[in-house]
Amino acid sequence: MAATAKPSLAPSKWSERRNTKPFTFFSMCPVCREERLQYAYTRRALVNLLQSGPMVNAYCTKCDRVWHVSAQERAALASVISALRALH
Ligand SMILES: [Zn+2]
Repeated sequence: MAATAKPSLAPSKWSERRNTKPFTFFSMCPVCREERLQYAYTRRALVNLLQSGPMVNAYCTKCDRVWHVSAQERAALASVISALRALH
């Protein structure tokens, strides 16, 4: 029966998925001073934010606090993203 279709792992599907899944990174919460995992942005959204200037927001689920990632964290993010772009 055709109803038992398996998930497709075709290369084109993989590249689509890479553009839509969250790009995770850590940013330090200014309240509790702990590194918090951020997953609100796709890589494409982060690239746009890093290039066009607006602040990148981060969020702490424990403190319910939103803050802007620091200039150092922005620079680290930009270098990671450009390194990944060189690989793909
Ligand atoms: Zn916190």
